[in-house]
Amino acid sequence: ASFARIAEVEERVKAFLTLDEEGARRTAAELDKQLAAGGERGLLFGLPAGLKDNIVTEGLRTTCASRFLGNYDPIYDATVVRKLKDAQSVTIGKLNMDEFAMGGSNENSAFHATRNPWNADYVPGGSSGGSAAAVAAGEVYFALGSDTGGSIRQPAAYCGVVGLKPTYGLVSRFGLVAFASSLDQIGPLTKNVEDAAYVLQAIAGHDERDSTSAQVRIPDYISALTGDVKGLRIAVPKEYFGEGVSSEVKSAVQASLKVFESLGATWEEVSLPHTEYAVATYYLLASSEASSNLARYDGVRYGVRSSDADNLLDVYLNSRSEGFGPEVKRRIMLGTYALSSGYYDAYYLKAQKVRTLIKRDFDQVFENYDLILSPTAPTTAFKLGEQVDDPLTMYLNDILTIPVNLAGIPAISIPCGLASNGLPIGLQLMGRAFDESTVLRAAHAFE
Ligand code: GLN
Repeated sequence: ASFARIAEVEERVKAFLTLDEEGARRTAAELDKQLAAGGERGLLFGLPAGLKDNIVTEGLRTTCASRFLGNYDPIYDATVVRKLKDAQSVTIGKLNMDEFAMGGSNENSAFHATRNPWNADYVPGGSSGGSAAAVAAGEVYFALGSDTGGSIRQPAAYCGVVGLKPTYGLVSRFGLVAFASSLDQIGPLTKNVEDAAYVLQAIAGHDERDSTSAQVRIPDYISALTGDVKGLRIAVPKEYFGEGVSSEVKSAVQASLKVFESLGATWEEVSLPHTEYAVATYYLLASSEASSNLARYDGVRYGVRSSDADNLLDVYLNSRSEGFGPEVKRRIMLGTYALSSGYYDAYYLKAQKVRTLIKRDFDQVFENYDLILSPTAPTTAFKLGEQVDDPLTMYLNDILTIPVNLAGIPAISIPCGLASNGLPIGLQLMGRAFDESTVLRAAHAFE
């Protein structure tokens, strides 16, 4: 059914970079055989899944939508891929993204732009735009994405699906190609909240192969979906409704508060005073970490090597010049500058300190409230090509999603209505660290 649907819509949506029909049919046949032999059904038995192309898959091409990794066939599976196999889902293929997860529209893919299934003139968001579009178009049952500054939640909002960024450390990053290691987190994109709980259940948990993986007890996320939010205290930060947030987005999100009220929850306006520094802090820290992480692409160890080099330095220079796209180069240069001696204290160290202040804002609010509610993105999806030459405007789209990554807390985006352009609007619910249960429970009750 998944491949039939792909045959129908993929030409228009262009969500995939690699399809693995043979592998998927082999896995499905194997699962049938195990079941016939009396085996038990796994948690995600037979469900067709798509994976963002920065999650490594043994023997299956993994490009990060970069020319640099255009020929890269990993020799191992990411921990999440192993866990999905244990849960018996079926991998259909690898999904498009902004190159190395840098971007918010999918237009930074080195290969092609994915389209928003609601209207093909519009972007699906990013960087996990292929993941969101594939779920929205019904090509896969669920997808995995990664979220460094909003890359699961923003495309989920633009495509009218559910996207969950788990607490930093809840899901293993082993086998996720690193962008900004202190911010990156893998999570599900699904059609509804219950599905998100199932997928999270399958992929969460400690992994000794990720040194930042948390040693926490994994609760039963599925039984947390009681439908009951009576007495839940919701904080609504005034900074998240400021300039740049469209009036239609504001009113859809405000209307959602009425729904929560009718379900017996209460809400109050609060302040997260350091919000205005989040974008600058994020783009310094994420670029700094990226410049360090991407130093491994030297034309020797991974991917494509320039054919136009006759000494070692030229191998590095030409491979990197040819292999990386403009946005990736921009981040590497910004990050290298911010980390260089003489500037480190003024930029990187300062940004780390502001990160702490942003985290403290959240800690204070969570002393008195269970959840924080806001829009996921300031606007609905924009048109292809509309912002592509304007990186600063593109960066500002992330203002409502970035603070969550800086603080390491979980957040979900769920659909909360349609704008007059016919495109979906996303509602964001943020929770305490490792309290995905409350986030999921509230999202599920709202839905
Ligand atoms: N749009 C943000 C960026 O370009 C977020 C990306 C992400 O979460 N991977 O960095």
